[in-house]
Amino acid sequence: MVDAIVIGGGITGAGVARDLALRGLSVTLLEKSYPAAGATGRCHGLLHSGARYAVKDPRAAAECAAENRVVKNMAPHCVEDTGGVFLAIDEADAGYGDRLVSGCKAAGVPVEELSVADSPNPAALRCIGTKDAAVDPFLLTLANLYDAYMAGAEIVTGCGVKRIGDGFVETEDGRTIKGEVIINAAGCECAELLQASGRSAPAVQADHGTLLVTERKVCDLVVNRMRMPGDGDIIVPGHTTSIIGTTSEKSASTIPLRTEYHKLVREAVALLPSMKGVRITRAFAGIRPLLGSGDGRSLSRDYKIFEEQGLITIAGGKLTTYRLVAEHASDAVMRMLGENGRCRTMSEALPDVRREEQGEIECRCESAGRRIIEMPFLKNTDTSRYNRLGFGACQGMRCARFSNSPEEFLQERWKGVRPIIDEGQLQQAYVAWASYKTRLGDRWPGDRIVLPRDREPMNY
Ligand SMILES: Cc1cc2nc3c(=O)[nH]c(=O)nc-3n(C[C@H](O)[C@H](O)[C@H](O)COP(=O)(O)OP(=O)(O)OC[C@H]3O[C@@H](n4cnc5c(N)ncnc54)[C@H](O)[C@@H]3O)c2cc1C
Repeated sequence: MVDAIVIGGGITGAGVARDLALRGLSVTLLEKSYPAAGATGRCHGLLHSGARYAVKDPRAAAECAAENRVVKNMAPHCVEDTGGVFLAIDEADAGYGDRLVSGCKAAGVPVEELSVADSPNPAALRCIGTKDAAVDPFLLTLANLYDAYMAGAEIVTGCGVKRIGDGFVETEDGRTIKGEVIINAAGCECAELLQASGRSAPAVQADHGTLLVTERKVCDLVVNRMRMPGDGDIIVPGHTTSIIGTTSEKSASTIPLRTEYHKLVREAVALLPSMKGVRITRAFAGIRPLLGSGDGRSLSRDYKIFEEQGLITIAGGKLTTYRLVAEHASDAVMRMLGENGRCRTMSEALPDVRREEQGEIECRCESAGRRIIEMPFLKNTDTSRYNRLGFGACQGMRCARFSNSPEEFLQERWKGVRPIIDEGQLQQAYVAWASYKTRLGDRWPGDRIVLPRDREPMNY
């Protein structure tokens, strides 16, 4: 019997497994798919400065500000320390700027008034600088899992948990694994899993958010709209691209919609006119587990840790504050076990899981190579996603063949291309489609490019 079983290999589960392993506990982490398969691998990768939450949720803002510094210190190799700005596009935005500044001051979030002339949008009415940054969610998750593994944790991928019992879990492949404490970090499936186990579950609402990826990086800074959080108000740089986000709809679907594409591009161009005409290469969608029920934008992005005898469930939260959440959940585990090991994740650096030497370049648009070090728990996993294969402008046309499962890889890419096909995109989509068809032959499901009905040019 192990001390702790962690369910879920997203950033929360990975953070908890690392924290507990560093405190000296025996840990087994079970991930049904692959590391960062859920919301973690489908987010902007914004390392929040806290400013976004300063008006609505000062506690979350203060936590983000503190954890922003911690993550930059402990995992500089996962972070692009870009800095960020909030831009006012109209008078209402500029007025909100006063609330933003006073909220940030109260929450201890560093901000400074900047000259709009030096901002990425010189036509803006006001510009406030922040400590926002970009973080690679895949690398951060792998670094946590690898460190947990090096500290003695067992990490198992491709192993779903079907039921949580008292002091044990049953896996989908029929195994029973015993543990003193079970930590349910199954993301948006955490409540479903409790219900399937005959337990009461907190109210958790699945909230769908779509993001768009641009062909090239449009701006080196994180750009936020100076207003209460809403749709299409963030542009985050990430490696060679920019990510435009996001929407918020009550839904558990990971299929991005065409209406969301239109809305996000319109908002992005208003925020940053240099976005006009920039080719969008792909859309993708993630699901947030929000606490409560109702309109997604009105619900908190906060997290909650639910404790019952021998079981801890973590619901909600942010990538930025994962370490803090893991620390609190691990403290609860220690209390349940009557142990008192100290949390070490605040000061211990995370390992860089990339190879020291770049491998053979497999995709020139992202300079992607086999750059993840070997980890036994990734043996049956397609590691191409951690190497950014197919993440750049070519969308896998050149490099899909390097993926362990090119069929799955290309179908996932196509899912993100379909909703964004418009007149400008059509030629590119035909080339991509023909390339995929050539690569996969009969294994390609014969999907046809159908021109969307609303073909009239978009006015932005
Ligand atoms: C569109 C969008 C944009 C976001 N942008 C940001 C951002 O820019 N910055 C930020 O700080 N936060 C952001 N977030 C929030 C952030 O992504 C999440 O808070 C965080 O990734 C949650 O991690 P998690 O590990 O709790 O959940 P997940 O990443 O969803 O991980 C849960 C894992 O559990 C596994 N699992 C599920 N059921 C089982 C089972 N029965 N057995 C075994 N394994 C199971 C899943 O496969 C999955 O890997 C965003 C979220 C969304 C949806």
